[in-house]
Amino acid sequence: MNFCSACGHTVELRIPAGDSFTRYVCPSCGKVHYQNPLLVVGCVPEWNDQVLLCRRAIEPRRGYWTIPAGFMENDETLAEGAARETMEEAMARVEIQDMFAVVDVVHARQVHVMFRARLLDGRFGAGAESLEVALFDPGDIPWDEIAFLSVRFALEKFLEDRAAGVVRLHTTALERRGGG
Ligand code: ZN
Repeated sequence: MNFCSACGHTVELRIPAGDSFTRYVCPSCGKVHYQNPLLVVGCVPEWNDQVLLCRRAIEPRRGYWTIPAGFMENDETLAEGAARETMEEAMARVEIQDMFAVVDVVHARQVHVMFRARLLDGRFGAGAESLEVALFDPGDIPWDEIAFLSVRFALEKFLEDRAAGVVRLHTTALERRGGG
């Protein structure tokens, strides 16, 4: 950040009074520009024991497979965000079920929240951010071409739980190296 979004003055990096973190602070109007982790919401959509994956048309990790997921917007719930991302990336309507994975992606300054989901009518297609969208049997998932470690974690836990017939919430933290 270079300029204050409130008044346009050049900002400075310093620790505001009463704070313990370095922030961008405007010396002209005094505004403190907080920067905090972003929430990414997504889901694993199921249909007839298959899972829906999207091959990314955008960087990062263009050409790699992921679940429908993206940045949460203002004025929506986590579940609404996951359903919206699924419509945008996979042109599919889903029933969002329980939250089953929360991943701290510390190096990317993100928290990823994943839900189980079910396609409502089995219809899907490639949205603007996807090269292709497809249903996979568990044995056919392209593990070597999964875009992010958080997605690999979610898919592994999803399939483990489904095979075991249990519903659980899994959490993990991805540290500074190793993708996200
Ligand atoms: Zn300012």
